Amino acid sequence: MKLFLRTAMSALMAAVLLCCGCADTGAGMARQPEGGPGAEDGDGARKTNAGQGAGGPWQYADTAMGTVVQQTIYAADQETARDFSAQAMELLWGLEREKISWRLETSEVYRANASAGSEEGFLLSADLSALLESCTLLWERSEGAFDVTLGAVTRLWDIDKWAAESSQEGFEPPGGELLNQALGTCGSQKLRLVEEGSADVRSAESSASRESRLRLFMPEGMRLDLGAVGKGLAMERISALLAERPDVDGAVISLGGSILTYGGKPDGTPWRVGIVNPFDTAESIGILTLEGSWCVSTSGDYERYVEVDGVRYHHILDPKTGAPAVSDVRGVTILMKDGLLGDGLSTACFILGPEKGMALAARYGAEALFVMADGRIEMSDGMKDVFRK
Ligand code: ADP
Ligand code: MG
Repeated sequence: MKLFLRTAMSALMAAVLLCCGCADTGAGMARQPEGGPGAEDGDGARKTNAGQGAGGPWQYADTAMGTVVQQTIYAADQETARDFSAQAMELLWGLEREKISWRLETSEVYRANASAGSEEGFLLSADLSALLESCTLLWERSEGAFDVTLGAVTRLWDIDKWAAESSQEGFEPPGGELLNQALGTCGSQKLRLVEEGSADVRSAESSASRESRLRLFMPEGMRLDLGAVGKGLAMERISALLAERPDVDGAVISLGGSILTYGGKPDGTPWRVGIVNPFDTAESIGILTLEGSWCVSTSGDYERYVEVDGVRYHHILDPKTGAPAVSDVRGVTILMKDGLLGDGLSTACFILGPEKGMALAARYGAEALFVMADGRIEMSDGMKDVFRK
């Protein structure tokens, strides 16, 4: 049995390259030509590096939410940049611990999952109410391709764990009765979101937080998995944090396949965000040139996967089969202002393919780029304006 893996640490190596100021790091990461001091480490434990080159931005790399975080921050002084950087990391760690992890007992998703099958349901916080509202609308509009109720099935596959382990000894693709049973617990049509004291709610054009809270009712066995929007939620939270920090002039925050740009650089040049080449993840297939604040989300079959006897089992599942989506798409990049929806859309569009995916993205006012299995690139018109090979 021959196995190949790609772990977060290889992405951290890319992060280290970024901090050394190398131009093209690939891996869907933002690249700043300014660069900064680097770090030599990258052997498995959480590693950090931080510093500010002469006149350049503050650079920092760390891990959170199971992925590599890279920050490039422009502020009047190093102390401000360092302070914001630490605040952003706390926010990310807190988000995982208190909101979206399905593994940690401290998180709201964990507690919501534990309530499945109960008559009283689970009273969601205002922000998770908004998030689940947005997710159920995306489920509807994507004809079920995007579904945050796949938790029982994603747990059976546990691709993230296998991709991160140093050995995949014992990996068996799940199937048969076990998979069918898990699949039987899935489906957003089976969950109910009820406004406290009023009728069901099913509309959310934006992921902006809402005032009121929803009560979530899930059938026995159903498990939420917010993995497809976790980084998007993080982008939204960091955007909100930046809005409260007028002392930060510009920033690029990269969280694995999700990148946030904010504000600007002192020299007025635009942000340059690289899109990973799915055929060679150390390379990029092109650059997005962006002015101001944007969210760029990428989903691909090369991000987290296990390869066994030449078959690639990746982490984006088709809710119809409960197996990794069979697609002629290798990667999808979504460009939009809303990070949460962009993250959800990139996952949905991977499964839907370019025709339906482009239409779905357009419905949300998002720009989309598809890298096809035959190497072709398909783009929406707005994406063509900012993409260069
Ligand atoms: P990444 O988290 O690597 O950026 P995505 O945003 O595309 O990638 O999300 C993939 C994650 O979302 C999976 O690891 C799994 O937890 C979850 N997931 C897998 N398939 C689906 C799906 N069809 N709809 C919603 N979530 C999914
Ligand atoms: Mg996603």
